Amino acid sequence: MHILSKSTYIKGLQCEKALYMQKKHPYLRDKLSIEQRAKFQRGTDVGMLAHEVFPGGIDMSPNSPSQFPKKAAETLANLSNPEVKVMYEAVFQFNDTLIMLDILVRDGDQWLAVEVKSSMRLSDTYYNDAALQYYVLHGCGVPLSDFRLMYLNGDYVKDGPIDVQHLFKMESVMDYVVEREAFVAKNVERLKAVVALPHSPVVNIGTQCHNPYPCDFQGHCWKLIPKNSFLFTTAMDDEMLFQCYFNGVNTNAKMLQQVEPDSEEAHQIEALETNSYYIDYKTLYSLAPQPKPKSVAFLNLLLNRPAVPELDGTRPYEEMILAFALQGEHEHDAAIDPRLRTSQRGDDMAAAEGCFVWDCFEDHSRWKEAIPLLIEKLSHYELIVCFTPQNLSTTLLRHEIIQNQTVGHKVFNLYDILQEARFYHPAIKRGLTLQRLETALFDEAKLFEHSRILVEATSNDLLGYQQAREDLIAENEIVAKTYQHLFK
Ligand code: SF4
Repeated sequence: MHILSKSTYIKGLQCEKALYMQKKHPYLRDKLSIEQRAKFQRGTDVGMLAHEVFPGGIDMSPNSPSQFPKKAAETLANLSNPEVKVMYEAVFQFNDTLIMLDILVRDGDQWLAVEVKSSMRLSDTYYNDAALQYYVLHGCGVPLSDFRLMYLNGDYVKDGPIDVQHLFKMESVMDYVVEREAFVAKNVERLKAVVALPHSPVVNIGTQCHNPYPCDFQGHCWKLIPKNSFLFTTAMDDEMLFQCYFNGVNTNAKMLQQVEPDSEEAHQIEALETNSYYIDYKTLYSLAPQPKPKSVAFLNLLLNRPAVPELDGTRPYEEMILAFALQGEHEHDAAIDPRLRTSQRGDDMAAAEGCFVWDCFEDHSRWKEAIPLLIEKLSHYELIVCFTPQNLSTTLLRHEIIQNQTVGHKVFNLYDILQEARFYHPAIKRGLTLQRLETALFDEAKLFEHSRILVEATSNDLLGYQQAREDLIAENEIVAKTYQHLFK
């Protein structure tokens, strides 16, 4: 059996301990978030579509890991079979390292290797992936005419059935992977030795825990770090925090002596000590809507950006409005889907009065119907309050829901306001989300992450749709509650 694979090699480049844990103690991994699962699924869907660029190939995917040796032997046999022109997920193993190559195409007496990515631009990790694959292919003696990365073409506009030849772009990385071969060889030996260790290598927590990806063993490695440690502050970058930590500054009291009194760093540490939040009220109040608006609405948009365009006239990752919830005094005749009324969540449904919900979950081609509806509904309000890391004004302008920047002041994004007022709570170390805000302000965590609503809304399941509508309303209620809490 193999020792390394593409994913464990990349993990090992980030942290040797993460590689060891993955190989020897995978059950200690943190649970995958819904967002991460959706990302994997997106990669699989795009990969399947990419096969059609080189049709008629043989799928070499094993049904289970135990089939890897068999599939590797079949792949090698297919290389010398002139009948085989294309292989998908071809399995190769060299020096205890196993890869599955997305597409391998016969090119005269050589082969063209293609690795598919579901994004619109290439990153260092993709180049590192390709370099490992080349190392294995070269080691297996596969003569390559080229090695290309295939990724989504942001200029492609869908017009009828998906035209896979134009949906994807390709870039040769042959020069890069050849040049990196010695580097990969060295790392493969180093990482194999790590896996062979009798115990996990001793690696202190550090910046590598978050870079380039959040490590999924943080639940294990960070378990002895107090939940209110200064390592969870955001006012200093990780580099600086860990430098202090490794220089013996290992308590909040010691850290407080290192920072300026009355500084943002000090306020954050004090917030940790008192298990409360910090906010710069002077800035917050300077940002309060002036004059006080006569009518306020709370808007929660659900946007979808499918990797592969679903509708004619759209590009990869182009945004569409899948749903919105609007809560305000003019929404007395709540046009909530009647199925919501059957919900078990009686309390929430009572609160949903005065909230208008629209969606096109069952037919995405209707998404533009949201635009005139929003134009009409928003015109009744002086202030539109929302919470989103995205620039809602830009979204509303892009869809011509608001006409120009001069009415942009109608949009009051609590996310931006809180960032400007340097809102801090230990729960938001990894980014400010509505769920974490709810924990920080109200000591409750009933919400799920917003990304879950998109999963529900695209589940092709009526119960999922219903849950998505309810969750949009529940989020809007937290936005309203936050606004009241901060500005009333
Ligand atoms: S949490 Fe940090 S130290 Fe632990 S395995 Fe991950 S990267 Fe390495």
